[in-house]
Amino acid sequence: MSDSVTTTFSDLNAGKSKLINPTLVLNCGSSSIKYALISEDESTRITGLAENLGLDTARIKHTTLNGEKLEITIPGGRHELALQKILALLEQYDFIAVGHRGVHGGREYSEAVRVDEHVLSEVKRLKVLAPLHNPANALGIEAVQAIYPEIPQVVVFDTAFHQTMPAVAYRYPLPKSLYEEHKIRRYGFHGTSHAYVSERASEITSAKGSHGWLTAHLGNGCSATAVYDGESLDTSMGLTPLEGLMMGTRCGDIDPSLHIHLKRQLGMSLEEIDKMLNSESGLLGISGLSNDLRTIEQAANEGHKDAQLAIEMFCYRVGKYLASLSCALPEFTGIVFTGGIGENSATTRASILTVMRHFGIQFDEDKNASLVGGAEGSLHTEDSSIELWVIPTDEECQIAKETRQTLGLD
Ligand code: AMP
Repeated sequence: MSDSVTTTFSDLNAGKSKLINPTLVLNCGSSSIKYALISEDESTRITGLAENLGLDTARIKHTTLNGEKLEITIPGGRHELALQKILALLEQYDFIAVGHRGVHGGREYSEAVRVDEHVLSEVKRLKVLAPLHNPANALGIEAVQAIYPEIPQVVVFDTAFHQTMPAVAYRYPLPKSLYEEHKIRRYGFHGTSHAYVSERASEITSAKGSHGWLTAHLGNGCSATAVYDGESLDTSMGLTPLEGLMMGTRCGDIDPSLHIHLKRQLGMSLEEIDKMLNSESGLLGISGLSNDLRTIEQAANEGHKDAQLAIEMFCYRVGKYLASLSCALPEFTGIVFTGGIGENSATTRASILTVMRHFGIQFDEDKNASLVGGAEGSLHTEDSSIELWVIPTDEECQIAKETRQTLGLD
């Protein structure tokens, strides 16, 4: 492990010639920072990840243009230091813009926005709705401002894509004042991913006219969205990313009276309940093993009953949700699977489609099995009622694209 920021001669040369007018994409989370430097034509990129932030084990894993791997320690694990080191690593490539993944843009932002003082203060203010993510986003913006005050920055909010949802989908059946005075409504998340894969599906399908997709982003976090003609009409996540599908450690939909029940019966505090629902539930809670589907699939194959139930519940809940979201679409062109699970687990895709057995969906088992490890393609047969696609998501590319568009660079 090295503490120094070194660049090889070949990397420098390769970088200068291939990375034309690159955009830096920063995805600052509570304990990690993902970054990508993407060339204007989107064909070349440098990527990296700062992980374990907040801990002494914090480090940056950086992949150069040549595919060479570097590891850089971050003594003390502070976000600010990690960002400084990332910027130092990329300094030589003369990036022309920075695009941030913003998690919560509230009602304010229905599209990507150029950062100014007002935008930065809104990102900070909206931490009430995303306490883990928005403060980290603000740190990322400020770190760039401190070192490169002249480089334009853009925030692409996870919530922005879903601002096209109609009131019938975004309102909760709660007293009106909660919405009007306190902005309590459904916002939706994973917007850049749903936008990217639905746009890509519309590019590669041969279906004519307007397209209605159900996009299933199944990773550690999971959400599904109904996208018609490029617009989100409904989605599974809500005020926070806890609503909707069962996830790695998040419960998804549960009875809202659970909080009061647990408080009364078990004396749990609201903080304890919140932690349990966000960090100890989902695949982890049911399997009792892990939030990682690979571990659970292996245990299930070896006969572990709780692992088998975790997978069955996961697939049942995704299928049930997709079936209900289909009601939002004027036309149902197809389903798009993405995210670590959606892109890699053929058995999970097959089980989800089997749950939706009344829809006339037909898929080719061999095609399904072949679509893993970053492959893009379809698995429906000719007589299927709808199309079925696996499209690897590329949130970094989408953020870079929206950043360039917002700044008029495209
Ligand atoms: P993401 O958050 O999109 O990185 O997705 C993480 C999830 O994808 C974890 O639950 C992983 O277990 C799952 N995953 C990644 N690769 C595979 C695979 N080959 N088979 C099954 N699940 C996978």
